Amino acid sequence: MCGVIGVRGASRNTEASILAYLGSYAQQHRGQESAGIVSSNGEQVYEEVGMGRVNDFFTKERLARLPGHLAIGHNRYATTGASEEKNAQPLLIDCMHGRVALAHNGNLVNTEQIRDELVRSGVLFKTTTDTEIILQLMARSCAGDLTSCLTDALKQVEGAYSLIVMSAREMIAVRDPRGFRPLCLGRLPDGGHVFVSETCALDLIEAEYVRDILPGEMVSLRVDGIQSFFPFETQTHRPCLFELIYFSRPDSMVFNHSVYVIRKAFGRQLAREAPVFADVVVPVPDSGVPAALGYSEESGIPFELGLTRNHYVGRTFIEPVQTIRHFGVKVKHNPVRSVFAGKRVVVVDDSIVRGTTSKKLVEMARRAGAREVHMRISSPPPREPCLYGIDTPTREGYIANRFTIEEIRRYIDADSLQYLSYDGMLAIAQSTPQTYCTTCWTGKHPMPIHNLSP
Ligand code: 5GP
Ligand code: MG
Repeated sequence: MCGVIGVRGASRNTEASILAYLGSYAQQHRGQESAGIVSSNGEQVYEEVGMGRVNDFFTKERLARLPGHLAIGHNRYATTGASEEKNAQPLLIDCMHGRVALAHNGNLVNTEQIRDELVRSGVLFKTTTDTEIILQLMARSCAGDLTSCLTDALKQVEGAYSLIVMSAREMIAVRDPRGFRPLCLGRLPDGGHVFVSETCALDLIEAEYVRDILPGEMVSLRVDGIQSFFPFETQTHRPCLFELIYFSRPDSMVFNHSVYVIRKAFGRQLAREAPVFADVVVPVPDSGVPAALGYSEESGIPFELGLTRNHYVGRTFIEPVQTIRHFGVKVKHNPVRSVFAGKRVVVVDDSIVRGTTSKKLVEMARRAGAREVHMRISSPPPREPCLYGIDTPTREGYIANRFTIEEIRRYIDADSLQYLSYDGMLAIAQSTPQTYCTTCWTGKHPMPIHNLSP
């Protein structure tokens, strides 16, 4: 779970680090633990990387220390390696090609063995991330130019990577051959170019969407123009369907879908598959809103914003010593009583993972006076931990591996509970013709897995 951005201004006056900062700000939902930018003016490379959200870490003073018309940015949620400063990205090394920085979204799946071999041959690692393996392999490559070094390194790793690499003069973006995570190319108003995880970042910096970087494609931006290569063996494309269900922002275009439009379509499909007599449809904000709108439109049941979300809840907050029941969810969501009082309510969310949110929200709805509470979920129950870059629980952590659907219904105390079917979800997602990674639902991995842990 990370956001990446790379900016290459056409003119030396482009404030690339400011654009990387703004783009990372738009991609904040993809990772809130650490933030960083590495910039270059064509000669020197500058670095500011640390813990915290984009807007907290980057002060005016910090940004002023990042001159130049090239910059890459990263915001991270730890999926491998601990959440600590030494693991924050972009990672920066000195090698044959000068100072090289790398920003990675995704997870590699064969790194344990490679790391072992490298450590035994004397390589010193300064982080515990899988991303550093790519840099170490690049540094050991004897190829003549940066793109060839990067290709050498990436041919040895397996897994998910949407990567941006930068040296003092060059910027390269690459997406793994299965294309798990999004990555796209935009054009800056000054004629320069930008790579971003999600198109919402393009909108903020007034860049124009050009196209997605294709699975297996490497794109290099140099003084002499744009070059595109396909250096890897072709694989079946596996973009992550959970990006469309939950992870991406609804105002982004991801894998040729408007995230908002497809989430509404999942909700419509859910209403066709799992109808119910009710007075009102209430979304679990924010991620459940588009699906609930779709459910409401399809069913004709009025839509009401019955749950309000507090957007200022950080990752840590002080709890009272005397336990308030379900403090964690109460601090985040609170009901509008008049929407629930005396009503038969359909509560729509995008997913149930551990089951804690749904359980607490059903209780909240009942306390607010709901006569009946029907949970509707716009994706099937996930069961398998993600190895490709989404932060998920262990197998036992998923409620669907511990209980049957009827037992989950009883556990969350809903009058009824229904999920969108797997086939229904795929039918909607395949409205643009493509295959997906659906491992979290099916348990079937698209490649052999060598690592012992995610
Ligand atoms: P649960 O409480 O069942 O563990 O989680 C379900 C809720 O968390 C849903 O509202 C869903 O939108 C949200 N959710 C789903 N996947 C993730 C995730 O990977 N990270 C976070 N923070 N929330 C998630
Ligand atoms: Mg949610």
